[in-house]
Amino acid sequence: MSKKKPRPIPVPAQFIPGLIDAHTHLASCGGDLAGLVERAKEAGVEKLCTVGDGLAEAELALEAAQQFGNVFAACAIHPTKAHQLDEAARARLTEMAADPNCVAIGETGLDTYWITHDPENTAALDVQEEALCWHVDLAISADKPLMIHNREADADLMRVLADAPAPKDTILHCFSSPLEMAKEALDRGYVLSFAGNVTFKRNEELREAARIAPISQILIETDAPYMTPEPFRGSRNEPSLIGHTALCIAEVRGMAVEDVAAALNENFDRVYGVTNP
Ligand SMILES: [Zn+2]
Ligand SMILES: [Zn+2]
Repeated sequence: MSKKKPRPIPVPAQFIPGLIDAHTHLASCGGDLAGLVERAKEAGVEKLCTVGDGLAEAELALEAAQQFGNVFAACAIHPTKAHQLDEAARARLTEMAADPNCVAIGETGLDTYWITHDPENTAALDVQEEALCWHVDLAISADKPLMIHNREADADLMRVLADAPAPKDTILHCFSSPLEMAKEALDRGYVLSFAGNVTFKRNEELREAARIAPISQILIETDAPYMTPEPFRGSRNEPSLIGHTALCIAEVRGMAVEDVAAALNENFDRVYGVTNP
C-alpha cells in the first residue's frame, strides 16, 4: 500500500526585486485580490498582467487593473470558447482594446487538445482560426501586443501567424513547444513567455529555449492558478511564486537573478507599453 505524501504548501522564493508576472489569472486564483497582489509585492513582484479569457473574465481583469496601479489587463476570448465571439462580444472587446488598462489582446490562439478531449464544449479548429485572425486584426488596430495560447497546434498556429499581418509584438504565452519551434518563433521576433513548466525536470528542451533566446525576447509568467513551478508542482499557483521560475531562467543563462528580473521588467514595459511614473 502506498501512502500519498501531502503536498507542501508553496512559499515564494527569496525576495527578488523588480519581478514581473506577464500572464496570470487573478480571478481564478481564489481568495481576495488585494491579498494576492500584496503577497506578490512582498515577494518582489512589481507588475503583473492578469488575463481575461472570456468576456466576463475580461471585465474582471479590467476592474482589477483599475483597482491596482501595478496590475494590467489582457482581454480576449479563449480559443476553446471561440464560438462565443459573436457580434456583441466583438463590439465589447473592441471597446476594451482601446482602454488604457488593457495592455494586450489575449489569450487567443489555437487549442486542439480540448477539441480531442472535450469536443462537445470546445470550438472547432476553423472557428478558432477565424477568431484568432479577428484578434490579430484587433491587436493591430489597437496597436497592442498579441498574446497567444497554443496547445498542441504548433504547425497550424505558425501558419496562421505567418499568413496574417503582424501586430507590434507577438507573445507565445506558456511556451511549451519543441526547440525547433522556439528558434523559428525567435527568428520571427516573437516573445517567449516561460511558465512554471520550464522548471519541470523533464523539460530540458524548454530550458534550452530559455538559454538560447535573446534576453529581450523573454518574459516569465505564472499562468496561475495552474503550472506551479518546482518545488511545488501540483499545488495551487499564484503570482507570489514567480520567483522560482526567475531563478530557473537565471540558472540556465548563468546570470544573477536580479539581472534577469531587471531585464524582464524592461521587456514587460516595452511589450505592454507600460510607462512607469
Ligand atoms: Zn493559455
Ligand atoms: Zn492563461
